[in-house]
Amino acid sequence: MRYADPFRDAGRPETTDHDFLLNCSCGAEQRMDEMTLDETGPITLYECKRCTKSIAGVMTDDPDLEIHAPQSMTRLQERAGHHLRGYIIGSRVDVALRPEGGERDLLLIPATPYFFVQYLSL
Ligand SMILES: [Zn+2]
Repeated sequence: MRYADPFRDAGRPETTDHDFLLNCSCGAEQRMDEMTLDETGPITLYECKRCTKSIAGVMTDDPDLEIHAPQSMTRLQERAGHHLRGYIIGSRVDVALRPEGGERDLLLIPATPYFFVQYLSL
């Protein structure tokens, strides 16, 4: 599973992780294909290439997992990630969809800090 998957399914078949640009809070600007992947859990986590903090993630939008989320967190669901084409994506910082060489962002995906609060315990 890759962060680009829901975008590929949504009509941009050429989309890859290389098209996503983000700035970690440590100041490192990076494309997602430069980041370290952690695929050991239900979430594919993207770790900063410099400080190794998990700053973005993608997971399958599985209703069973929602049930196991702590009760107090379920009302935060809307802010806990973006539901997209059967996936949930989230990030601590805004993520820009800007293919290399592009002059502007095709899309800016707002940060969803609660993504990590809600789902990292799964
Ligand atoms: Zn960092």
